[in-house]
Amino acid sequence: MKAGIQIISPPTKKSHSSFLISFDSGSYLFNVGEGTQRIIQQNKVKLGKLRSIFLNRMEWDYLGGLPGMILTISDASLGKVNLVGPSKILDFLSANRQFVARPNLSISVRQIWDKQQVCYEDENLKVTCSPILHKDVSMQDYIVSLKSDSMSVPKKRRLLSTMFNYQDNDQVPSFSNALSMREQKIQPNCLVYLCEGPEIPGKMDGKKAAELGVLPKDRGKLIKGDSVMSKFGTLVHPSDCVSPARLGSKVIVFDCPDVNYLDAMITNSLVAQQLNDKTNPPKVLIHQVGLEVLRHPKFVTWVQQWSESTQHVLLCAGLHSHEKIYTSSNQLLELLSQIDPELFSGEAMEPAPESVPPTMDSNRFQIGTPYTMVEFEPNLKVEVTKPPVSSSIPMDIDSIASAVAQYQSEFDTKVPDYPYVLPLGTASCLPSKHRNVSSNYVRMESGSILLDVGEGTLGQLNRYFGLRINEELNQLQLIFISHLHADHHLGAFGIFKAWNEATRGLPDKKLYVVAPHIYIQWMSEYAEIENIGLDRIVLLECSGLITHDLDAVALKKSLGLRSIRTVPVLHCYQSYALVLQHQSSFKLSYSGDCRPSEELIIAGSGSDLLIHEATFEDELHHEAMEKNHSTIGEAIAVGTKMGAKNVLLTHFSQRYPINVPLPQIPAEGPNIACAFDLMKIRLGEFSKFRRLSPILQNFLINPS
Ligand SMILES: [Zn+2]
Repeated sequence: MKAGIQIISPPTKKSHSSFLISFDSGSYLFNVGEGTQRIIQQNKVKLGKLRSIFLNRMEWDYLGGLPGMILTISDASLGKVNLVGPSKILDFLSANRQFVARPNLSISVRQIWDKQQVCYEDENLKVTCSPILHKDVSMQDYIVSLKSDSMSVPKKRRLLSTMFNYQDNDQVPSFSNALSMREQKIQPNCLVYLCEGPEIPGKMDGKKAAELGVLPKDRGKLIKGDSVMSKFGTLVHPSDCVSPARLGSKVIVFDCPDVNYLDAMITNSLVAQQLNDKTNPPKVLIHQVGLEVLRHPKFVTWVQQWSESTQHVLLCAGLHSHEKIYTSSNQLLELLSQIDPELFSGEAMEPAPESVPPTMDSNRFQIGTPYTMVEFEPNLKVEVTKPPVSSSIPMDIDSIASAVAQYQSEFDTKVPDYPYVLPLGTASCLPSKHRNVSSNYVRMESGSILLDVGEGTLGQLNRYFGLRINEELNQLQLIFISHLHADHHLGAFGIFKAWNEATRGLPDKKLYVVAPHIYIQWMSEYAEIENIGLDRIVLLECSGLITHDLDAVALKKSLGLRSIRTVPVLHCYQSYALVLQHQSSFKLSYSGDCRPSEELIIAGSGSDLLIHEATFEDELHHEAMEKNHSTIGEAIAVGTKMGAKNVLLTHFSQRYPINVPLPQIPAEGPNIACAFDLMKIRLGEFSKFRRLSPILQNFLINPS
């Protein structure tokens, strides 16, 4: 039997802690932050045998990728999802009802209540977990909060039954009526998981078995523990020729966000019991800990107390800051930067990684990377491989670079810096290794806007701006969410948290969110689970900006806008486009996902820039109609009818920019560019594409 731990991603500015424990017949995923699915896809991590997902904490960094993951599991017909995590998982899942409903998907949920308990068991793993509390949370407060959580369970279960083929897998304890309910929010708890593998059967000593006259057909019985009759007529017992069975390997998964949880983790009885187990010490400890915990003298001393034979894996923010998580995308961006460094500047500088305390500077302490594999069965072995080099990327770019250099000299280089667009996600529906799900960052001199915020948007911003990220977040004033499909909005909470952090010293600063009513509902339900910092976030419903923008006076003043309007469009329930005009006269129209809209053409008339979805190639017109999307030709036609000066096509063919025909740009009419992730285009640069597109096309279809 083989078993091991594959690190999917460490906690960085671009990724969250996630890993997979795999056996021959099943695998178990721990934590699913934003972007996990994209990394899984890039690194070809196999999820076909996924049995269960475990969460250490009910925080967005640990579960932001869960809705997308559930949709993918359902659409890939992987059958069933089993979820284990702190109480409130039901609240989270039911809050997703507007965009994650798959009646054919079987989901079972095990919520962890107050006590240490076995929370999962199959032939590979027995998992025991125990809650770890913040130092300011008493057991009494914790139990009161659980009682409050438990009250809503029947309602949530009913909601989940309408979304999925849902099965209860936990029993809600009965809390004493004497517990008074207080309206007090407590710090969230974490869970520690002890994962025990199956007992490993002893090995047959073949020579000895032959001497004892064991028949070949009886060898299996001896290994299973049965005695057999030899060919000499004597009884042979397992102990005569089979080595004793060995206890299963153990892995402990720790989660300690800051020093407020450290004492509780160290003194936890489940943990202390394992520390004192000298006969079968854990083989691997996974430490998801904050940097201040890693360096705390108590932690440093405590980790040294574990057996010499135990392997530690560190998943700690700061240690991995230099990791290029999206390696495939980076390889392509580097190549494109040789073609046009203005458009494709690639990923920004990374901060230098923090160092581990000197006592942990040994092979026993492994810093987990996306290419770290820790095998623990049959033997302990750590392997770190290199990221693969993508074979689909043509490497010879000299000819295209020189062709582009020629037009660069004729192109006006004095293009104003603002406004510019930075597409952050140009894929439709699912992320891919080169492209994330929907988001566009529009930067004007007076501030910036996010047009949709798919899962992983913050990671993309961090990739592009690197050390300058807080400066840019300080500029962010508006997030527009066009509709509630999962690929358009699941990155917002990550942005809220980072924006709050970046603007912490500026209490008067506001972030405006223009979104459909059902989004606002989802957001307020999630805010009951985790504090995502809504105090300085101003919510405006899309429906309130259709005919006038009286509700947006403060936003207009703040961002320097002359007007801002939404346009209802045909796509799904509560879908909107956006049209705004800056005081400088810059006019921007954004389609979201939709069929071509006459109302948008009228509202966006004379736009300087139209960003329009172009999900389907022209031959797939019927599919575009069926799914309420637009074709490339339709998107260009909207721009032409609108009299737009520049059009940015997004959701453009998944194969772009490799080996895909680019649209013909009409001699008259708007400049047309195809959006690609992290391609920054200043408004004055769109005309480049009249020259660039045919060159790219020639090169990409016939890579030399
Ligand atoms: Zn959509």
